[in-house]
Amino acid sequence: MNTGQTIRRLAAAAIAIAALRVPASAVGQQTAAAPQAAAAKAKPAGSPAPVGAESGRFVVLLDAAHGGDDAGAHLANSAAEKTVTLALSVRLRSLLAARGVTVVTTREDNSTLDADARALKANRAAPAACLSLHATESGEGVHLFVSSLAPAAAANFAAWKTAQAAWVTRSLSLASTVNSTLERSAQGDTPAEAVAIPVLLARTSLPGLDSMSCPALGIELAPLRSADGKVSVEVTDASYESRVVDALAAAVLSWRGDWQTKGHQP
Ligand SMILES: [Zn+2]
Repeated sequence: MNTGQTIRRLAAAAIAIAALRVPASAVGQQTAAAPQAAAAKAKPAGSPAPVGAESGRFVVLLDAAHGGDDAGAHLANSAAEKTVTLALSVRLRSLLAARGVTVVTTREDNSTLDADARALKANRAAPAACLSLHATESGEGVHLFVSSLAPAAAANFAAWKTAQAAWVTRSLSLASTVNSTLERSAQGDTPAEAVAIPVLLARTSLPGLDSMSCPALGIELAPLRSADGKVSVEVTDASYESRVVDALAAAVLSWRGDWQTKGHQP
């Protein structure tokens, strides 16, 4: 068993445990108003109705993390994280658009955006999935982050900074969908492409993500490593990036079925 497999199993177990702790039924109808309340609270007067919720359309929000004054991490080949995340967002957007998915992005260029602006864009779109894209030189494979907020109880909804609490259970199932798609991602002719991409699942507090009223994930691309821990494929490797983007697109399409059943409700 390699380290990647161990990590994936741990990740799957973490998802299972978290899902068991709070059954979906416990956060169902009573908290359904929470995300709308949070979105409404932050919505300036006169702004248009959410894109996804009222039309019933399947909308995906892509957030290329960092940008402008915030370069993010320094990656291989002198690449800035903000540039890699934008490239990933653009590639994923075009794959999804080609499959009929409406995509809303937080940025299309090198602009500076704070966490609240990202969450506000997300919440206006009422998306079926919010994917916030990061890249790093640490660790390996793909890191999936779900908010560390405890799933919301009926009474403590509506706060902008914790809007994600009502959606944590669905965010965990989105993480599970992305995890299984990445596990099935073995393909290609080179030895590096013949193994699945290692996946690590973690719970963390991310300011933008914690305010999002949608199933939301932080997705961080890390290098691939050989058994001795040395980097074998950098995050800036074009074929590695497209392999991950392909898997993410497949995960979103698989998630679409779940969305059609439940709609825009936590
Ligand atoms: Zn980052």
